[in-house]
Amino acid sequence: MVAISVPGLGSFLHDYPLMALRPSRTRGCLLRGCFKFVAHTPTHEAREEAFDLEIEVPPGFPKALPRVTETGGRIPRHGDYHVNSDGTLCLGSPLRLLLKLSNAPTLQGFASSCLVPYLFAISHKLRNGGPLLFGELAHETPGLIADYLDLFQLRRPEQVTEVLRALGIKKRRANKLPCPCGCGVRLGRCKFNARIRGFRTLANRSWFRHQHHWILESLRLLRSRTPGSPPRFAPALSQLQTARRKLAAT
Ligand SMILES: [Zn+2]
Repeated sequence: MVAISVPGLGSFLHDYPLMALRPSRTRGCLLRGCFKFVAHTPTHEAREEAFDLEIEVPPGFPKALPRVTETGGRIPRHGDYHVNSDGTLCLGSPLRLLLKLSNAPTLQGFASSCLVPYLFAISHKLRNGGPLLFGELAHETPGLIADYLDLFQLRRPEQVTEVLRALGIKKRRANKLPCPCGCGVRLGRCKFNARIRGFRTLANRSWFRHQHHWILESLRLLRSRTPGSPPRFAPALSQLQTARRKLAAT
């Protein structure tokens, strides 16, 4: 039934015994069932939560991200709850998720570092309303760009696309590009190079090329929808950073 070996699958099934392997139509693996967990934050006491989920783990995992769908009808299917238009849960920006996964590259790691924080924040919102607990959950283009601005410590969306472009080509060629930080020299001669070099280990060049094209296209769409008024990412970014600082301080 499992065509691939998924790192951490055994521990995952042990920790979440109501989840079970199902026949998968793809080469990856499919898990379905009740995802039950206990979570807390420094400011919220421990609580048990359960959501019916379907988790599709691609063959490339952990360098490729699982797709998660909530099947119990508890989470409203719109952006306020970070549900994508195809019904999958928006657990965060792809690069942020890959970064989290790189610290615990197993299915169990995915569950605890990517899935549980999202579901905990969602259950809190379902109970109490208001904004999501974790500011780091990026959704749609503005949230995604804000998250990347924060990851790369930049200020303008164009700089994000330049970084993704550089990460999508070989280091030697990327070093000759003008540095995205705006210093005026080539990337290879700026300290900024050290800041983004580590991201190369998270995914391959074609993945970054795909992200680059996708973000360029999303930005273009965003601008065509609101002609004359350039999209503003600063509010989303400062909101994100405030939420993260608050979480770190508690
Ligand atoms: Zn620079």
